[in-house]
Amino acid sequence: MTKKFALIVLIAASLRAADDAEYTKQIRQFTTGPQFSTELVDHLPASARVPTPLQFLGYIAGAENHLTYAEDVYRYMRALESATPRVKVFSIGNSEEGREMLLVAVSSEQNIASLDRYKDITRRLSDPRKISDDEAARLIADGKALYYATGAMHSPETGSPEMLMELVYRLAVEDTPMIRNIRDNVIFLTTPVLEVDGRDRQVDLARYRLQNPKPPTPPLVYWGHYVAHDNNRDHMGLALALSRNVLRAYFDFHPQVIHDLHESVPFMYISTGTGPYNASLDPIMVDEWHRMAWHEVQEMTRRGVPGVWTWGFYDGWAPNYMFWTGMGHNTIGRFYETFGNRFPSTENRVVRVQSDREWYRTNPPLPTVKWSLRNNVNYQQSGLLLALSDMAERRHHFLEQFYLLGKRSVAKAANEGPAAWVFDGAQKRQGQLRDLMALLRTHGVEVNVADDAFTMKTNWPPPAPATDENKPKEEPKAVNFAKGSYIVRMDQPYSRLADTMLDVQYVRSDEKVYDDTGWTLGYLKNVDFKRVANPDVLKVPMHAWDAPAGEPTPRPATNNADTDFFRAYWADGNSKKPRIALMHTWLRTQDEGWWRLALESMGVPYTYISTQDAAHTPNLREKFDVILFPPTGGSNSSQEIVNGLPPGPPLPWKKTTLTPNLAVDQTDDIRPGLGLAGVENVTRFVEDGGLLITARDTSVWAADYGIARWVRVVPSQKLRAPGTILSAAVSDKKSPIVTGYDETIPLYFSASPIFRVGLTPETPPESRPSGRGTKTDPDVPQGRPFVPLPDRPKPAPGEEGFQPPEDLPGNSDFAMPRPEDRPRVIVAFNKKADQLLMSGMLEGGEELAGKPAVIDAPRGRGHVILFACNPMWRQNTQGSYALVMNAIMNWDHLR
Ligand SMILES: [Zn+2]
Repeated sequence: MTKKFALIVLIAASLRAADDAEYTKQIRQFTTGPQFSTELVDHLPASARVPTPLQFLGYIAGAENHLTYAEDVYRYMRALESATPRVKVFSIGNSEEGREMLLVAVSSEQNIASLDRYKDITRRLSDPRKISDDEAARLIADGKALYYATGAMHSPETGSPEMLMELVYRLAVEDTPMIRNIRDNVIFLTTPVLEVDGRDRQVDLARYRLQNPKPPTPPLVYWGHYVAHDNNRDHMGLALALSRNVLRAYFDFHPQVIHDLHESVPFMYISTGTGPYNASLDPIMVDEWHRMAWHEVQEMTRRGVPGVWTWGFYDGWAPNYMFWTGMGHNTIGRFYETFGNRFPSTENRVVRVQSDREWYRTNPPLPTVKWSLRNNVNYQQSGLLLALSDMAERRHHFLEQFYLLGKRSVAKAANEGPAAWVFDGAQKRQGQLRDLMALLRTHGVEVNVADDAFTMKTNWPPPAPATDENKPKEEPKAVNFAKGSYIVRMDQPYSRLADTMLDVQYVRSDEKVYDDTGWTLGYLKNVDFKRVANPDVLKVPMHAWDAPAGEPTPRPATNNADTDFFRAYWADGNSKKPRIALMHTWLRTQDEGWWRLALESMGVPYTYISTQDAAHTPNLREKFDVILFPPTGGSNSSQEIVNGLPPGPPLPWKKTTLTPNLAVDQTDDIRPGLGLAGVENVTRFVEDGGLLITARDTSVWAADYGIARWVRVVPSQKLRAPGTILSAAVSDKKSPIVTGYDETIPLYFSASPIFRVGLTPETPPESRPSGRGTKTDPDVPQGRPFVPLPDRPKPAPGEEGFQPPEDLPGNSDFAMPRPEDRPRVIVAFNKKADQLLMSGMLEGGEELAGKPAVIDAPRGRGHVILFACNPMWRQNTQGSYALVMNAIMNWDHLR
């Protein structure tokens, strides 16, 4: 911004008689330079009857040293509701810990008074099958566009609830042409705090830091009750209350844009993403991301605001983000990342690579900056006001596009296909199948049931296009489907959401991906499915599946590796059940949170303990039969699990009057880890007959610390498998761990580790000395008659890695573990590298081919079960839950 322009803006703002002088003064006081603000937010209009945040809370939005608890944000929003007919507050449900979630609507008093009518218009536009184009045109002419912004999904990202209080006030009170236009044409909706449990803990920590400025502040060990950052990866599984509450609110309003407010990269990133973009999305939706993003980049830039950019952050691939609540339902989903300081203090920040100029960042952030919470509030609020103003100018465009996206989704079956996804009703795992159908229905996807058995040429897998005219096309095979088969039609408004969740993903190995690359839910839930391109499937006699969700199922007679069987087992009060502990570290609690959710979804009771508890309990066996040690998600976990955080002043995670919300588990100091005493206690637990179950990095820890003997971690050179679905096979059919499974099991695998079982290093691939002939010819020493070498004896099954030397077995028998002590591979990854990948990305698969996925390592009277994969992930991998549940149920007879 030029000085002259800044001066004009300053004078213009100071001349506005209608401004709240004290509030405006403080906005400027807490903004670290005029270039970090705009004329839209550098002042606050006064009102005789509507309280400002300063009047209500005693401080302005973005004031130094102030963060607001969710409850106080709500009190303020409700005070606005009482003071003006332009604001209305709705409760949209509670968090896991019972804290309320809100939705606040702000618009003109006429629009708010007619909210039900406008909700009805967007609801009717959402299903183009039920209205004509003429009716749609009338609804579009009459309707208002709805913009839904959500704050504080990620709890250390603290600015948005403060900003949203001020924005709602401003939209209700300010009387400029721009704001009036927004009020008349747009209904702004906001959930000011999404992760309400985590928000309150973060405010606790900010208070703690103010009181204890010298020692380090504890990190936010728990955000939500179960997971941290992954609350933005729950859109498919809907395991979390916040996902379900927002989805319900979505279906109540059918907004045209949903916008999440995040804080990370400098100074303001507006989402478009680098690609690969999700392949099921409509191109016009992707184009709209770009149009909106560039519009705001340009508007902010022309106001002289540094560091507003798009493209170079996040990909656009996986459908598991919160804003897919919109994108899966023909609503534009978008997000901001603004620069946050986490705590409400003003900091000197260094911006490294992101201050470089790039084609997508021609006005980059400054390399160093003094940055305040108020700067963050200014950026977020200015961006949103520009977006709302754009929507107000183009109200019809947004409503029309919403209708068009729905129409094009309905046309999918006839255009790009497929026609439907079909799930045979006669398959084994009926519980997992029913739950998948119920999940789709919760997402608003219609599910039908076939009235009778039918046969259909599915065209799956689709035949390769015939390039050679003489070559006959592959004849599609006819497939039989039982009566009661589920049919998910692609001629419905939410076909694209169903399609991306059910389809198989392919990601090129040179792509830079931001999260999981494959998620095919039919694989992850281990159910049979068919992609049916043949449009005849839509003519099959069928009716809407309307069974109530969560209906009780009769106890399944046999274990088909289906969650219903385990639900029935744990609900049955008669049988003697193992006593289970779930052990967490104080380093990271997110991955184990998904395990807690998985156990609770099957009604499995457990005691929640920390590694510190294990360190202080010499006789763990007295209390527990099974200890689950889920992944910690660290990169150097073995040492960290044992050593904990570096020594220093204590970092308490405890409920006190200063920090009343620090909960889930508690300790005086999160620093100490499991310690060697804990390793000893856990080892003794196994030797005394307990079962320890580990996965990914905790499996590496069990191998590194020798609790699981003769299991080695194989270093990887080229394996790339970022959140991928791989094919695995049962190696030991006698193990009760694989009860109910077929020969092959799809497994979710993420990047590492690679294991090998055995006493000896892996034998190098067969080779011959350099010599005459070819690679397979025998070697011929010269000057003597040629004697062919006998073939090396192949080890018997279960003997791999444990063969004594061929020359003199007696030399080494002292070192040979007895057969009953040797680890056994229960499930192994597909032996053929080119058949490993089922969905997602895989590079260097030959390193993983044939390697163990599940190992049973006996020790003393007990066992360690090591998973290389993560069997309980984001409430999507029910297909592998049975591997854990079978192990638990058979804890005392795994041999
Ligand atoms: Zn975030």
